[in-house]
Amino acid sequence: MTKIRSICVYCGASDAVDPRYIKLAEALGRELAKRGIRLVYGGGGVGLMGACARAAHDASGEVLGIMPRFLLQKERIYKDVEHRIVDDMHTRKQMMFDEADAFIVLPGGIGTLEEAVEILSWARLGLHAKPMAFLDEDGFWSPFFELLERIIEGGFIPEEFRQAMVHSKTSSDAIEALLDRVVVLDI
Ligand code: AMP
Repeated sequence: MTKIRSICVYCGASDAVDPRYIKLAEALGRELAKRGIRLVYGGGGVGLMGACARAAHDASGEVLGIMPRFLLQKERIYKDVEHRIVDDMHTRKQMMFDEADAFIVLPGGIGTLEEAVEILSWARLGLHAKPMAFLDEDGFWSPFFELLERIIEGGFIPEEFRQAMVHSKTSSDAIEALLDRVVVLDI
């Protein structure tokens, strides 16, 4: 049976962004809560990450935040939801991966890009088959998908790799696309 229990969201931690991005993160948080899907995220109260987690929590959704100790103050850990404090970034990233059935990438900066690309590189190495959706309303991730086309055209990754990821405009479309791709044993 196909079912997603948890989705890990990668997104920007900056507060200095266009409010439209914050709204998109809130909409995703609400959509996850509505569907009974747990949000797994970096644990912070800032930027899109805080907006998504607060919206999910306010809509009675389940949230797990995973925060490395050295970022507790900088990313202002959101304590109203279940959270785990870990020793380092590596442990955080591994735990976020382990706790998720699929991934959604919202607009973000270097950290967001790094997290998403690391998960894609693990898929490329055959270490997992968890799908990833990139979510934006304004084509934020389009240049990244153009780069991927260049990479595929250049023969660096096979065409089938496109199946590992989707590009969606709404939270609902992103989750539906992931549901089409994920296989989790319902036990
Ligand atoms: P940013 O997209 O740069 O706003 O960062 C979003 C999130 O990614 C924040 O929670 C950062 O702690 C995290 N982050 C920043 N740098 C890295 C990195 N090198 N690897 C993994 N996560 C990171």
